[in-house]
Amino acid sequence: MRHYLGTLFAVVILIIPWFAFTYPNEARSILILIQNAGSQFAAVILSHNPKTITDLRSNYSAPADNQTTVQKKVRILLVPGHEPGYGGAEFADIKERNLATELARDLREYIQNNNHYQVFTTRDDTAWSPEFAAYFKNNWDSIKEWQKASHDELSHLIAVGSVTPPASKVFHNNAPQDVALRLYGITKWSNENNIDIAIHIHFNDHPGHKHNISGTHSGFAIYVPAKQYGNSVTTKAVAGTIFKRLAKYNPVSDLSGESGGIVDDPELIAVGANNTADAASMLIEYGYIYEPQILDPKIRSLFIKDLAFQTYLGLQDFFDQQNVVSMSGSFDTLVMPHEWGHPMTEKNVQTADVFALQTALLIDGVYPPAQKSKNDCPRSGSFGPCTKKALGEFQKKYNINGENGVVGEKTIEELNRRYSGKII
Ligand SMILES: [Zn+2]
Repeated sequence: MRHYLGTLFAVVILIIPWFAFTYPNEARSILILIQNAGSQFAAVILSHNPKTITDLRSNYSAPADNQTTVQKKVRILLVPGHEPGYGGAEFADIKERNLATELARDLREYIQNNNHYQVFTTRDDTAWSPEFAAYFKNNWDSIKEWQKASHDELSHLIAVGSVTPPASKVFHNNAPQDVALRLYGITKWSNENNIDIAIHIHFNDHPGHKHNISGTHSGFAIYVPAKQYGNSVTTKAVAGTIFKRLAKYNPVSDLSGESGGIVDDPELIAVGANNTADAASMLIEYGYIYEPQILDPKIRSLFIKDLAFQTYLGLQDFFDQQNVVSMSGSFDTLVMPHEWGHPMTEKNVQTADVFALQTALLIDGVYPPAQKSKNDCPRSGSFGPCTKKALGEFQKKYNINGENGVVGEKTIEELNRRYSGKII
């Protein structure tokens, strides 16, 4: 999304590039400071009520109220990146904004099947959800005022020497003003509607590759608020468990600045620029739009559905370990179980079979092969040197002879014994 098309968000934080407070450990004291500043300098009174880890956990586990029998829920907002019909990365006929809605739909399904959650989504492919369309229409001026007030609050803190400006790690394109204000509007709506967790869904792009030729970077990254913002600690806790799930099967971004996988960012409106967001707010770049598993139409939907599943399992790791065990059963990926039926060589493959083979080899601990990373050898659906080498290790491990570098009858039998979910 961001490094490319000029449509992304970010800076609108405009004049204030970004600043770190000089009170690194005390988010609460900063809030008090900010509240004072807000009341003195802003036309709009700002209130900050960032969600704590305890808030979230108690919303998840609180029993139904005896009087009302209304169960508390964790309120999750899914924000597919960019706008209906507008913005985001594009590669060949693939559009980031549509990948994002597809992933949001898949994730929504998992979340809403769990009655501890209530889930909201900002848009589909063609339109804003009615609630958001109405909110933008009816609150445009107050969103502007609120954005300005948040900005002024930080300006004041800078003026009195309470903040110092560090550099942002990753360059972001500026968003057009109306796009940026809608993002602020989404945050404002979230604060007013008591959202606990906001997940912004994106796929990345990177400049420097030719039109429709894949770039060199790959992998996912999760953007979280800068540590001085009120929602930082809670966001990081939730992002941490989601990160672990995604990292098991997918490469972490190898872009400089994203390489830790979880990236603090002071400027992204989505995660609470200007200390605006109360909800734990993260922006997940699920991978680069030109990665092979996205380009291949036979794999893409399964890959996206599995990203959604991993995200959901990450949420469950945060809230409810027991539920994770019972839900994922013997496999913690939707790619499994899989039944293989045809021999495979480098030249003769079904990409879905290869994708499943790579996943099985990964679970078996032989993929990616030694000295290679998941960025070197992603689960791509294509049968190349990475797969061949890992397959050799698998065959060695299970004493399969005579099928070097190809998936023959004996290898199929072993794969199906372990990964078809059937008793063979
Ligand atoms: Zn994007």
